[in-house]
Amino acid sequence: MLHTIRHAPEGGITYEAFCSTADCGEMSGPQDEQETAQDWALQHTGLTGHDLFRRVFTDHARVTRQG
Ligand SMILES: [Zn+2]
Repeated sequence: MLHTIRHAPEGGITYEAFCSTADCGEMSGPQDEQETAQDWALQHTGLTGHDLFRRVFTDHARVTRQG
């Protein structure tokens, strides 16, 4: 049985930023807009001076059966 997997736009995309400074652990939480996660990082740097962030983008994929 063959299956294919494709990006599923209806599942949405999330954007999230995590502060990489040791012992900080702050994060933006999952956001619907990339800009919201970026704004959080900019504000976090302004408040703390922490300037390195791990960024995570997630999408959804759907598997369908062929034939
Ligand atoms: Zn931080």
